Amino acid sequence: MTTEQRRDTPDPSNPVVRIEGVHKSFGRTKVLHGVSLDVASGEVSCLIGPSGSGKSTMLRCINHLEKVDAGRIWVNGEMVGYADHGTYLQELHDREVQRRRARIGMVFQRFNLFPHMTALQNITAAPIGVAGEPRKEAEENARSLLDRVGLAHKAAAYPRHLSGGQQQRVAIARALAMRPQVMLFDEPTSALDPELVGEVLEVMRDLAANGMTMIVVTHEIAFAREVADTVAFMDDGHIVEHGSARALIETPQHERTRSFLARVT
Ligand code: ADP
Ligand code: MG
Repeated sequence: MTTEQRRDTPDPSNPVVRIEGVHKSFGRTKVLHGVSLDVASGEVSCLIGPSGSGKSTMLRCINHLEKVDAGRIWVNGEMVGYADHGTYLQELHDREVQRRRARIGMVFQRFNLFPHMTALQNITAAPIGVAGEPRKEAEENARSLLDRVGLAHKAAAYPRHLSGGQQQRVAIARALAMRPQVMLFDEPTSALDPELVGEVLEVMRDLAANGMTMIVVTHEIAFAREVADTVAFMDDGHIVEHGSARALIETPQHERTRSFLARVT
């Protein structure tokens, strides 16, 4: 694993992701009630909370997969969503939306690798197809990313021949291949057999140690306490409590945070 970049203290005056008063409904279901959150460059922020509280929706709004009803989101100073998002995106060229989305890495609970492509091809698909990288360069980078996630020997393997943990590590390498400014993880270990969780968390720990800005939705409270700088507890579409990982987990201030943590730990 590489250590090309030292971990610096996150700089709060330089948020990579800024979420400001975001509201989102699906039909009559209000899912986000004015959520605000800043994530600084190099910060690892874990988002915890009960099922249905809006965590995935929040990540999907950051990644252009959902449009917000009100509020605004910036990623690296570029607007991602705001109330008039639909019109806004129509005005941007598809290519521009694709370009902005490409710099936001997303890893889902289900690995969703392309089943008909090898590990290497999964990783090079977007660099070649979207970013227009020369094949040779994309493949070299893919091999070094496979090495970084401990899968140098699996370049030619198809997803069906990989374990869940290996597939998730390829999915992380695939996201990294686009040189993302921020990585979003949506319960990346929830679908894994327990004995495979550790190898995926290990790769995430390595990314964090190398300065990657990360937002991680997770139920792995021990990981959050150890790796995250900050934790936000979300319930019913609100961020109920947000603070340093250690303080929030060890001395939660709100009753709802306390009862959630008592249930999951
Ligand atoms: P979490 O990730 O915290 O479990 P979600 O963001 O997935 O929560 O969901 C929050 C709420 O929004 C849930 O009530 C869910 O049913 C609803 N929801 C999410 N996506 C959609 C959708 N595309 N259409 C309708 N309702 C949705
Ligand atoms: Mg979810």
